[in-house]
Amino acid sequence: MPSNEALKETERVMVICNACRYCEGFCAVFPAMERRRNFSYQDLIYLTNLCHNCRGCYYACQYAPPHKFAVNVPKTFQELRVDTYQSFAWPGFLAGMFQRNGLLVALITVLSVAIVLLLTLFQGTSVVFSTYTGKGAFYDVIPYLFMVVPASVICLFVLAALLVGFVRFWRDMGGKLNELLDLRVMVHATWDAFRLRYLKGGGHGCNYPDEQFSHARRWFHHLTFYGFLLCFASTTAAAIYDNVLHWDAPYPFWSWPVMLGSVGGFGLLIGTGGLLLLKRQSDPEPANRRLLGIDVAFLVLLFLTSLTGLLLLALRETSAMGTLLAVHLGVVLGLFLTIPYSKFVHAVYHYAALVRNTIEQAESEHHKNF
Ligand code: SF4
Ligand code: SF4
Repeated sequence: MPSNEALKETERVMVICNACRYCEGFCAVFPAMERRRNFSYQDLIYLTNLCHNCRGCYYACQYAPPHKFAVNVPKTFQELRVDTYQSFAWPGFLAGMFQRNGLLVALITVLSVAIVLLLTLFQGTSVVFSTYTGKGAFYDVIPYLFMVVPASVICLFVLAALLVGFVRFWRDMGGKLNELLDLRVMVHATWDAFRLRYLKGGGHGCNYPDEQFSHARRWFHHLTFYGFLLCFASTTAAAIYDNVLHWDAPYPFWSWPVMLGSVGGFGLLIGTGGLLLLKRQSDPEPANRRLLGIDVAFLVLLFLTSLTGLLLLALRETSAMGTLLAVHLGVVLGLFLTIPYSKFVHAVYHYAALVRNTIEQAESEHHKNF
C-alpha cells in the first residue's frame, strides 16, 4: 500500500486542480480527473500512473512554488508512482529493490557480467580468446544449455512478476478481469501506447528538459521503445532459426536476427543515449529524486545492452568475440534479473491506466448520448 503522505499530498493537489481545471487540454490525466468529484485510493493510483511526466502542467501552473499552494503535479505523481511500483511488486520481499535502485542494479549487473565471464574462462583461455569464423561459434564459447536453460527460466520469472504486478494494479484500480477481454478497448489502448499519443502534449511536445516545448523526448522514447521491440523480435527470430530450423548462430548480416537486432540496437543506443542527455540537462524542480536513480539505472542498462550487442556483431570474427559474448550476455542477464524492479514497470502500469482511461472515455461518451 502506498504511503499515507504520498496519497494525501496527491489528493490535496488533485482537489486544487479540479477546482482550477486550467490544464484540461494537456493530457489524459486532467479529463480523467474531471470525471471525479472525490479522489479515492483507486482514483489516485490510476491518475498518477496515467501521467507520463511531460511537465506541461508544472510550467503552466499559477499555483506552482513559490505560491503557497505549492502545486507540483509531476513531482507529486512521481512520489506516489514509486510507492505503487513497490506495492505491486512480486514477490513482495523484492519490493525493497526500488529503494537504492541505481546501486542495486549496478551491483547485480557487475555480478552477472563477472559470473558469465568466469564461467566462460573456466573452459580455458584458448576457447575464450580464439578467432571463430564458422557456424556454432557462440556455443563453442558458451555451451547451448548454459545459454538457453537460464535464459528460459529467467524469462518465465520476469513474465510472471510483470503479470502479477499488472493484475494487482488493475484490481486495486477497481478494474474487473472481464473488462480486459473487450477487444475494442484493448486495441484502442494499445494503439495509444504504441504511438506514444500523449507525449505530444497539446501538440507542441513536452516541456522537457526545460520550459521550452520540444519533441525530443518523444522521439527518443520512440527510438527506445521500438528499438527494444526490434531487439526482442531479433532474439525471437534467432530462437526460431536455432530450435525450429536448426541453423546455428552466428547468422549472416542479411538474416532476420541480425537485421532486426542491428536496427533495434542502433535505435536503442540513440534513444537511451538521448534520454540520458535530456535527463542530465533537465530542470530538477518538477523531478522527484526517488525516481531519478530508477530512471537512470534502467536507461544505462539498456544503453549497455545495445552497445555490447553491436560491438559483438562488429567484432564477431575476431579474437574479441568470446569476451564480448560473455560481457553482452552478462549485461542482458543483469537487465532481465532487474526488469520487474526497474523503470520498465512504468510501461506495464501506464498501459493498464490507458486501458482504464479508454473504458472511462467510452462510458462518458455513452452517457452524453443518452
Ligand atoms: S496544475 Fe495548476 S494550473 Fe494546472 S489545473 Fe492544476 S492548479 Fe490549475
Ligand atoms: S506532467 Fe504532463 S502528463 Fe503529467 S499530469 Fe502534467 S500535463 Fe499531464
